[in-house]
Amino acid sequence: MALARQVKAMVPSVEKVRFCNSGTEATMAAIRLARGFTGRDLIVKFAGCYHGHSDALLVKAGSGALTLGTPDSAGVPEAVARQTLVLPFNDPEALRATFRDHGRSLAAVILELVPANAGLYLPRPGFLEELRRLTHDHGTVLIADEVMTGFRLGPAGAQGVFGLTPDLSCFGKIIGGGLPVGAFGGRGDIMDRLAPLGPVYQAGTLSGNPLAMAAGLAALETLRTTDAWNRLEALGAELEQGMVAGAKAARIPVRFQGIGSMFCAYFTDRPVWNLDDAMHSDRTRFARFFHGMLDRGVYLAPSQFEAGFLSTAHTSDDIETTVRAAEAVFATL
Ligand SMILES: *Cc1c(COP(=O)(O)O)cnc(C)c1O
Repeated sequence: MALARQVKAMVPSVEKVRFCNSGTEATMAAIRLARGFTGRDLIVKFAGCYHGHSDALLVKAGSGALTLGTPDSAGVPEAVARQTLVLPFNDPEALRATFRDHGRSLAAVILELVPANAGLYLPRPGFLEELRRLTHDHGTVLIADEVMTGFRLGPAGAQGVFGLTPDLSCFGKIIGGGLPVGAFGGRGDIMDRLAPLGPVYQAGTLSGNPLAMAAGLAALETLRTTDAWNRLEALGAELEQGMVAGAKAARIPVRFQGIGSMFCAYFTDRPVWNLDDAMHSDRTRFARFFHGMLDRGVYLAPSQFEAGFLSTAHTSDDIETTVRAAEAVFATL
C-alpha cells in the first residue's frame, strides 16, 4: 500500500506498519503489542506526556486532562493504573533506579521525545541515549509516540532529529492529512506478533480506509515536495527570535521554548525540563497574555499546556504580526 511505503521510506526505524483510526488507537495497540511480545505487564510513562485516552495511559497525562486539572481520569480502575509507572521526564537517575528495581518486568517505555502536551520541553542531552541503552539491555520495548512530532519536525519526526531508533513508533494527526488516521509500526519481529501472523489481537472496521489513506498520502507527498520542513524551521526561528527579544525588552520573565514549527511560552525564569518545572509558569499571566493576543487578532492555543504550531500556510508577515502583537501585550503584563 502506497502510504505504508511512504511511511517506511521516511522513517527508517519502521520496517512494518499498521494503520488504525486515531493516535489513541495507535498507542493502545503498541502497548498491547509490547506486552504480548515481552510477556510482561508493567509499562513506564512520563509525567505530563499524553498518549491519548486509553485506560493504561490516562495516568498523570498532559493535554486537556492537565488543563482541566484531572491528569488522572475518573473511570480508570486502580488495578489498571497500577500497571503504569510514572517517572519525571529528563531524570536519568529515576530511570536507572526503575530499571534496577523492575527492569525484567517492564514491557515498554512510552514517551513523547519532545513532550508537547504540558507546554513544550526538550530532551536533555544524553537522556534519550540512556533510555535507549536501558531498554535495550532489559529487553523492554521502547515506544516513540510521534503522534504530534511525526512528519512535523522532519521526514523522520523527532527520532530523526535526535538520532534515536525506537522499537515501535506511533503516528496520528499529520499522517491523516486532516482525516481520522493513526498508525503504529517498527521492528519486523515485534510487528509479526500481531494477528493474524501472531497472537496479539488488533483490528478496526475503518482501519486503512481508502479515503483516509489518500488524504495521508497527499499530505506526506506535499510536505516532501515543497521543502516544507526547511521553511517551517526558518519561520520557527524567526518567531523565537522575535518573542525572546520582545519579552526581554519588556523585562517579562518568559521561557520561550521551540523546535521546528512547535513552540510554547512559559511565564517563568526557571528552565523548563519537565512537568514540575512547567507547573511553575505563572498561569494568570499566561491567561492575560492569551487574551491580549486575541484582542490583537492572534489566536494562540488557549491553555498554558497546549503547544503552538506553525503551518505551511503561515508566512513571514504572519510572524511579524504575531511578534508586534506580543511586544504590545508584554508591555501590559
Ligand atoms: C494527540 C495525541 C495523541 C492522541 O491522538 P488522538 O488522535 O487524539 O487519539 C497521542 N499522543 C500524542 C503525543 C498526541 O499529541
